[in-house]
Parts: sequence; C-alpha cells; structure tokens
Amino acid sequence: MKLIFLGPPGAGKGTLAAKAVDLVKVPHISTGVIFRSAIAAQSPLGRKVKAIIDSGKLVDDDTTIELVKERLSQGDAQKGYILDGFPRTIPQAEALAEFSSADKVLNFDIPDAKVLERLSGRRVCKKCGANYHVLFNKPKKESLCDACGGEVYIREDDKEEAIRKRLEVYRDQTAPLIDFYRKKGLLLDVDARPGTDEVVKNFKQALGL
Ligand code: ADP
Ligand code: ADP
Ligand code: ZN
Repeated sequence: MKLIFLGPPGAGKGTLAAKAVDLVKVPHISTGVIFRSAIAAQSPLGRKVKAIIDSGKLVDDDTTIELVKERLSQGDAQKGYILDGFPRTIPQAEALAEFSSADKVLNFDIPDAKVLERLSGRRVCKKCGANYHVLFNKPKKESLCDACGGEVYIREDDKEEAIRKRLEVYRDQTAPLIDFYRKKGLLLDVDARPGTDEVVKNFKQALGL
C-alpha cells in the first residue's frame, strides 16, 4: 500500500504513521526525520538545510524531490510506503506522480488551536526521532526516549515564531494539495482532533481496514 499523509504541522502525522506501520507493513518515510538526521550528522545535506528548517521555511523542491526519489528506489519501499511530510508543494506532487503512484492520500483535518497545543508541547528524540508530548504522550522516564533511551528535546522550529511561519507556509503551499488530490479521487479525510487511539480508528475506517 502506497500512502501519503497530508496535514498541517502538528496534526499528528508522524505519531499516527509510527502506529500505522504495524497495520499496513510498509516503511514510514518522513522527509522531516531524514532532514533532522542529516542535520545531526552534520552531513553536506544537513549543513545546507539547517537554517531553512529552523526558520520554518521549506527546503527547495529539487533537493527534496531528489531525496525522496532516491529513498523510494530502495528495496524496502517496493512493497509500499507511508510518505509523511512529502509532497508539500504542487511541484513536488507532480514530480512524485512521475516516479510513483500513491494509492490513497490521508488528509489529517485539525483546527489551528489544536495544532498550537500539540506543537507547543512536542518533544522529539534526538537519536531515533520518536515524538512525545509534555501532556498527551509523556516519556516514561523524564526527558528520555521510551524506544531507545535517547534524549528528548524541543525542535528549533517548534518555537513560537517558526510555528507561525510554518502554518503560513502550510496554508500557502501545502493546503492546495488537498484539492489537487481530491480531484484525482485519492483523498480520504481523517478527523485528527481526538486522542491517538481514536485517530487510529478513524484512519482504519477511512482505509476500510
Ligand atoms: P511537521 O512536524 O511540521 O510536519 P516535518 O518534520 O515534516 O514537520 O518537517 C520539518 C521541516 O523540514 C519543514 O518545516 C521543512 O523545513 C522541512 N521539510 C520537510 N519535508 C519537506 C518537504 N516535503 N519539502 C520541503 N521542506 C520539507
Ligand atoms: P506531525 O508529524 O503532523 O507534525 P506529530 O506526530 O509530531 O505531528 O504530533 C505533534 C505533537 O502532538 C506531538 O507532540 C505528539 O506527541 C502530539 N500528538 C500527536 N497526535 C496526537 C493526538 N491524537 N492527541 C494528542 N496529541 C497528539
Ligand atoms: Zn528514541
């Protein structure tokens, strides 16, 4: 199954994708996670994108498309994938259609007030990228990742100014993808407002699982 997770920052795409991989048995591919590991490794890609990501803007289409094209050519992605955070612009969606056809696009629907509540409390594992929340999904040991014991931190782009920028970028550049995919008959709306277990149910229902 080839799935795209679409939705504003903080909608819960990464959290749901981590749960959904057990259901659909395909790899979870998050461009945000790939970029953050490149930054942590101080690779050439990481050095190129750090300031852009920290400010809440988008990495350029060519760089991002090339990265995803390469990732989707790997063996584990041949049976399918969950693409989380890609595509984020119309040119990215058009490029993707040339090298892979998604089966469905899940549109995570959530109001801004909830997005702010989720992003302002988000914590992320430095080592494995797992997501936590100070109120809704606390790690068992304070500040340490349940999965790998890594340190959890506040993303630079989860600070107030970058959050505002990211919501603006979402509205201008990413939200048009909703219509783009609806017209192709691929879009499924998922109510992303309730707690994670409920959202998992909504997701399964949308896909008929
Ligand atoms: P969010 O939690 O906001 O959904 P992600 O972890 O998906 O954030 O992405 C973090 C940042 O990485 C984005 O704000 C952007 O700078 C960059 N990024 C991720 N995916 C893309 C993409 N498809 N195109 C351009 N930039 C991207
Ligand atoms: P995205 O990948 O869409 O940016 P995340 O999965 O990182 O979103 O979730 C954003 C924040 O909200 C994280 O702190 C996460 O723990 C929390 N979160 C995710 N889904 C829910 C939910 N259904 N209810 C409450 N908090 C959630
Ligand atoms: Zn971890």
